[in-house]
Amino acid sequence: MARFGGDEFVILLPDLAHEDDVLPVVERLLAQVAAPYHIDGNELRITASIGITLCDGGVERPMELIQQADLAMYKAKRQGRNTFQWYTRELNQKVSERVSLRNALQRAIEEQQFELYYQPQIHGPSGKVVGVEALVRWHHPERGFISPAAFIGLAEDTGQIIPISDWVLATACRDARDLNAIGMDDLTMAVNISPMQFQRPGFVRGVMQTVVESGLAPALLELELTEGVLMDSTERVIETLCLLREQGIRIAIDDFGTGFSSLGYLKYLPISKIKIDRAFIQDVVSDPRDAAIVRGIVSMAGELELDVVVEGIETEEQFRYLGDHHCETFQGYYFARPMPLEELLAFLEERRE
Ligand code: C2E
Ligand code: MG
Ligand code: MG
Repeated sequence: MARFGGDEFVILLPDLAHEDDVLPVVERLLAQVAAPYHIDGNELRITASIGITLCDGGVERPMELIQQADLAMYKAKRQGRNTFQWYTRELNQKVSERVSLRNALQRAIEEQQFELYYQPQIHGPSGKVVGVEALVRWHHPERGFISPAAFIGLAEDTGQIIPISDWVLATACRDARDLNAIGMDDLTMAVNISPMQFQRPGFVRGVMQTVVESGLAPALLELELTEGVLMDSTERVIETLCLLREQGIRIAIDDFGTGFSSLGYLKYLPISKIKIDRAFIQDVVSDPRDAAIVRGIVSMAGELELDVVVEGIETEEQFRYLGDHHCETFQGYYFARPMPLEELLAFLEERRE
């Protein structure tokens, strides 16, 4: 057994005859490490994450074994720690895909391969555009368009989300200020905030600096957070939200209803809006259970004086149905897809009274 660096240890089991013999060792280790320590009257616990690989004679250098175990260990960590994972070939495949995407993402950051698209939010009864949501787009020079769903998660793991988010926020604020300057007043700019970005120290200061530099009225900026961010409503989260609110910035809960969070936070967090996730809208016309959920959310939001945006409206029927059930603000392909700024300008111009 050797300490490999930091909190990483390598254990070599040269005498085991069969792979089944590994597990008892691993389980014993996990249990031993997880036993509580009593220090100065406090009970402290640590846990281990274990990655296992077998030497089948196929590796050329011993270091390869350590790398394989390392990959498996990270998988164990991602599974919530205090557990073990076996190395597999697919793991390697997946990791090398991630490595190449990560490198491409780094180039994208340096070479500014991003663009913001904007999707209008419509007030149903009047047909007026009341806001837009900024959605990042990555134009890869060879691979073409890469969806945010494919890279936001990775960018969060690697920390690359920070420079991307900074660029997104600055660009969205500038574009919003320009839109308002040419008379599209009171158009709210909604920007997605990743959990990592939100949890960084100095987040509020950074946002305020960007807003001030852009010249956008803070009341026209809305930050979209997912329920996951609020899950552990620690003092820090509450404080951050209150600071933003004091500055006049609005908070919306994105993908509402899809996270595993309690509703308690709606009671004491300064939230102005919830966005009902597309998952409940897709079949809202035909599935009474979806309809019940949507009606429930809308009625609860009304009582709590929260605004509601319905996401992912694709058909006339959905629009009619939801309109009949007290939904007022909509975002979805039925009205408009996310579009570049130029197109948005034309779209807004067309709809002006
Ligand atoms: P989201 O914030 O929930 O954004 C809504 C997503 O639904 C967008 O996908 C939008 O294009 C899509 N959408 C809108 N209307 C419809 C519809 O009628 N039907 C269907 N099928 N889809 C519709 P997009 O642009 O691919 O973004 C996916 C997610 O990536 C976003 O979900 C958001 O969580 C994340 N994301 C996008 N841009 C950013 C960003 O700048 N920063 C961060 N942190 N996350 C971002
Ligand atoms: Mg969003
Ligand atoms: Mg959403």
